[in-house]
Amino acid sequence: MRPPGPRSTVTALLADRGYRLTAPRRQVLDVLLASGTPLSAAGIHRRLENRRINLASVYRTIYVLLRLEALRVTDAIGGEQRFELADPLGAHHHHLICQDCGRIEDLEGCPLEERVLRAVNRRVRRSRRFRIVQHDLRLIGACADCDRAGRRRRARRRP
Ligand SMILES: [Zn+2]
Ligand SMILES: [Zn+2]
Repeated sequence: MRPPGPRSTVTALLADRGYRLTAPRRQVLDVLLASGTPLSAAGIHRRLENRRINLASVYRTIYVLLRLEALRVTDAIGGEQRFELADPLGAHHHHLICQDCGRIEDLEGCPLEERVLRAVNRRVRRSRRFRIVQHDLRLIGACADCDRAGRRRRARRRP
């Protein structure tokens, strides 16, 4: 048997709290499932198939999904909040954030080894009595385009 897909998991979450999977909710979910990067509300709205769903209803859907913990907010550097499916609805991953253009790219998988995570957990548990249940890692730098542009600029400045 295959495990239930993210869409049916969210449908179950919604039903559990007395929400229906309305057309806007289904479409917002489909956009998020298809996207390889966190999206702003406006970005989700732009990608909707049904042009009659307005931005306000995208926002309402986002709030419902946030309350169900089906979404998580990614801190972009400045600018609008962006949203993506929360673990474990999406695969566990982290973000590469460009500090020049603000682009966010998914980094598949987790660069933190199990051994490191266990050690951090043990240490924090002992020193702070804090139990870690998940983690978030942002790698901030320059994307390929901005890095190339920066190198060209630096090269031009040289006499
Ligand atoms: Zn960039
Ligand atoms: Zn991780």
